[in-house]
Amino acid sequence: TVTESSVVEAVTKELFIGGKWTPATSGATFPVHDPATGKVLCEVADASVSDGMAALDAAVSAQKEWAAHPPRERGEILRRAYDALLARREELALLMTLEMGKPLAESRGEIAYAAEFFRWFAEEAVRIDGGYAVAPNGSGRLLVTKQPVGPSLLITPWNFPMAMGTRKIGPAVAAGCTMVIKPAEQTPLSMLALAQILADAGLPDGVLNVITTSDAGGVMEPLIRDGRARKLSFTGSTAVGRILLEQCADKVLRTSMELGGNAPFLVFDDADLDAAVEGAMQAKMRNIGEACTAANRFYVQRGVADEFARRLTERMSALSIGRGTEEGVVVGPLIDSAAVSKVAELVADATERGAEVLTGGEPVAGPGNFYRPTVLTGVPADARICREEIFGPVAPITVFDTEDEALAAANDTEYGLVGYVYTNDVKRALRVSERLETGMVGLNQGIVSNPAAPFGGVKQSGLGREGGTVGIEEFLETKYIAVSL
Ligand code: ADP
Repeated sequence: TVTESSVVEAVTKELFIGGKWTPATSGATFPVHDPATGKVLCEVADASVSDGMAALDAAVSAQKEWAAHPPRERGEILRRAYDALLARREELALLMTLEMGKPLAESRGEIAYAAEFFRWFAEEAVRIDGGYAVAPNGSGRLLVTKQPVGPSLLITPWNFPMAMGTRKIGPAVAAGCTMVIKPAEQTPLSMLALAQILADAGLPDGVLNVITTSDAGGVMEPLIRDGRARKLSFTGSTAVGRILLEQCADKVLRTSMELGGNAPFLVFDDADLDAAVEGAMQAKMRNIGEACTAANRFYVQRGVADEFARRLTERMSALSIGRGTEEGVVVGPLIDSAAVSKVAELVADATERGAEVLTGGEPVAGPGNFYRPTVLTGVPADARICREEIFGPVAPITVFDTEDEALAAANDTEYGLVGYVYTNDVKRALRVSERLETGMVGLNQGIVSNPAAPFGGVKQSGLGREGGTVGIEEFLETKYIAVSL
């Protein structure tokens, strides 16, 4: 039977280096907390720089052989891991809810979503292609082939503890790259469970190395600056992404950066309002609002603004809040108390500037990091909540009159990950989709994430794409061979 203590106990809480579980050389550990109660779930190994270097050594020595591994077999390892993830979905979902807080139903959804990246890249491993062409002068030939980038450093966030890992590991395995992965310190358990699943699926020793540490910056910087890793793939905040890009510059590492977002959600007078409210709930409340794709700002055209706000308020105030393991709970705790303070600060700033609270507007008293689902109206453009990532269950609404006005407001941000558009006018739909300065658009749809699609942002939301047919390219170099006949 699957119990809270059994799923935590089942995880090996050590470093995974060269195919072996090993404690930190210093013997140090750090605690993992349940954000719904604040209690310590367990301790995991706390890697130092030398442990990190040992992981990089292992990845570097496994690279040559792994690159020569038959693509079909690389794909089949991913496919077996996909099957294992689904077979163990219940226990992995509970583990994720315990360390991250999201309701069980969402954790189950994430395990399935995470597994899909393995299925997708299992299929992509055997489709790495090349070219053979006649040179313009007619005598030469142009041969083009793809090779793995090489040992890769992967850094993942706490909000999707499993899917952000599989989205990087999947294409790296398919492409033939070895890896050192560092999960977020808040949620290391899902990644440790995944490492064992991949080992059981036949991943050779040293291809995936996992280091958990309470000192992300201190341990990762020497690995980045070492020069033997050829690639860094990071998902996290824009602030940390900038630091990492600078560190990568020295040895000219390839980078993939999935950074912050500030998604606008546009509702036009001609929208299907039922669909818009439903989409708004998904875009806002998926993952308790703790997603880089979360709708951060709602711009609603005047003709439907009052009705949209009324219906959204009704839906938001009906949501049940509680520990993610409890039946029927749809709003779990935020990741830590700092997240609650940040949300409270943004709401206070908006109301001081004239915004009105329609529902919520405060933390839940008692233990755990809970904040009430909140709707604000009359939010002025200079409010911090319109400029900063909320990462919590707050929907700020601003009314607009014209399409140009809505687009100007939507694009008035340094971020450019995703935008949502609700309209039934096909010309407007395409016009607005093209003019939004974002890497992705949800057109009459509140969720865009899909392993088969290229996920990523423009402007300061990042570099590169994950998933889709381009996802594997992030881990491949193109080599051109000039042939004389
Ligand atoms: P968040 O604010 O959502 O926690 P972060 O960008 O701080 O996002 O964290 C995302 C990931 O980046 C985590 O795994 C974290 O440990 C790691 N991280 C944070 N700071 C650094 C750093 N200076 N160098 C390398 N990794 C870091």
